[in-house]
Amino acid sequence: AKSDGGGKYEVFDPERSAREAARIELAADLPEALRRAEFRLEYQPLVDLRDSRLLGVEALVRWHHPRLGLVPPGDFISLAEETGAIVQLGLWVLAEACAQAAAWAEQFPDAGNGSGLFVSVNLAARQIRDSALVDDVEAVLERTCLSASLLQLELTENEIMDTAGKPLRVLEELAELGIKIAIDDFGTGYSNLSYLRCLPVTSIKVDKSFVDGLGGAEGLEETLIQEKIFGTIVSLAHALNLMVTAEGVETEVQAANVRRLGCDAGQGWLFSRPCAAERITQLLAAQTSF
Ligand code: C2E
Ligand code: CA
Ligand code: CA
Ligand code: CA
Repeated sequence: AKSDGGGKYEVFDPERSAREAARIELAADLPEALRRAEFRLEYQPLVDLRDSRLLGVEALVRWHHPRLGLVPPGDFISLAEETGAIVQLGLWVLAEACAQAAAWAEQFPDAGNGSGLFVSVNLAARQIRDSALVDDVEAVLERTCLSASLLQLELTENEIMDTAGKPLRVLEELAELGIKIAIDDFGTGYSNLSYLRCLPVTSIKVDKSFVDGLGGAEGLEETLIQEKIFGTIVSLAHALNLMVTAEGVETEVQAANVRRLGCDAGQGWLFSRPCAAERITQLLAAQTSF
């Protein structure tokens, strides 16, 4: 038991201390893991809700730890943020995803909306505050020969604001490269929506929690409220010329509802779980409809 500084003692919790020990082990292993190439990317399809075709993919990182097995990003991204390893890891993710997207663009130039499949890469808060970011992104695009229009970066609402609640300048510089910018987990961060108007973003990804309420499991009254909220988000986004993606679509009912409410694209287990690059290549080769 250790003092929490408030004069009280924490009760010893074996499960919690085991989790702490695992965290410490993972944090210590991170720098080595990059050199040992223990990370892999999986790609999850983004599907056009009008014609059910594959529009793009989101790159999601996985850690194949030699002792612990597959470690999900939820268990190491925040650690990597704390230790600073995220900058190096994030750059690896970006380079790997862009190289893969360039290969797909070469093999399937008409995929996506007709000019190639786009790849969407998550950025951590620490990466956005890294002064080398714009140069790094530019260098990766050059090195991989990926058209900037086929790269999307995903940032959360909280990540793109400075401490005064103003959007970060670096967004403009990223947008000037010609890449797309999406707001991830939309609806879970800043509730002041007026900032959207002055941001160089191209799309929003509505958080799964909003899609969950459209499954038809709730009572009529609750369903109507959820539909109103979702529909309002879509209208607002469209008024600002933003594309809307629904995250975490798991059922046909949810897909039908988000489509009816005007949503442009969907992502979720209903269409596909995140999968290896080879599987995406197969989907492209077969011109799969979802
Ligand atoms: P996210 O960016 O919101 O990514 C979506 C997460 O939801 C992914 O979890 C995905 O596998 C999961 N998901 C997709 N469809 C469904 C569905 O229909 N139902 C459910 N229940 N889940 C679904 P994952 O891969 O475990 O990633 C978790 C989070 O870790 C991501 O959330 C993102 O914030 C972070 N992350 C993943 N890869 C990276 C990365 O390369 N860099 C950074 N900075 N963060 C990453
Ligand atoms: Ca994301
Ligand atoms: Ca998300
Ligand atoms: Ca997230």
